[in-house]
Amino acid sequence: MISQEKISEIRDRASIVEIISDYVALKKAGRNYIGLCPFHGEKTPSFTVSAEKGIFHCFGCQTGGNVFNFLMKHDHLSFPEAVERIAKRYGIVIPRDAHSPANANESLYRVNELVAAHYHRLLGHPSAGKRARDYLISRGITEESAERFLLGFALAGGSGLVRLLKNEKMAVHDAVRLGLLDERSGRALYEKFFARLMFPIFNAAGKVIAFGGRVLDGGVPKYLNCRETPLFHKGSTLYGLHQAKEAIRKAD
Ligand SMILES: [Zn+2]
Repeated sequence: MISQEKISEIRDRASIVEIISDYVALKKAGRNYIGLCPFHGEKTPSFTVSAEKGIFHCFGCQTGGNVFNFLMKHDHLSFPEAVERIAKRYGIVIPRDAHSPANANESLYRVNELVAAHYHRLLGHPSAGKRARDYLISRGITEESAERFLLGFALAGGSGLVRLLKNEKMAVHDAVRLGLLDERSGRALYEKFFARLMFPIFNAAGKVIAFGGRVLDGGVPKYLNCRETPLFHKGSTLYGLHQAKEAIRKAD
């Protein structure tokens, strides 16, 4: 197991543009880079890379994620293999400590990170996210705040979380443990949040530990929070709640 701190260090040090440029010819386009998607056949580029956000996304096949997800998908690596590949390239040494309890929740943090980026992307989607963006504008929330709080949008008809997790080879059950998905006995998994503005709740280390969702119209409940999870204990997560409340207050 690689510690969460080490993973963050490696991700921060890595240039996603540099890594992806090994595989894809990227051209600068505004604030992003674009190129031909390596995951589906195309003749006009719909594959974008954001150096600022450290993520890639293809508007053609909806593949996306951070620099680790790219290598996992492209070279069929496991998550630790992708981390090690990048660490090696940037000369970062990974200490071996198989029994650190801090690592126990690693996969859960990764699911939250992936889902937060996904909801955030949906908010930015030209058509699907428009209603939520209009709502934010009507509340005077700037694009800058939406970026800073990593606000997102859960679509009315579901946000495709199960498919997203399967694409990233992540355990769908982790999303159930995190309160993002639920299962009715004997029936398919369903998403807990839909047609809601999504507020990730962060811990002091900047990791997403839970989500809150606010309806855009008169629906009830007005706010829906994740239930208590291995990462989120309502009584002891004052920092994240405080920060999320600031964003929610602005949205009210
Ligand atoms: Zn694609």
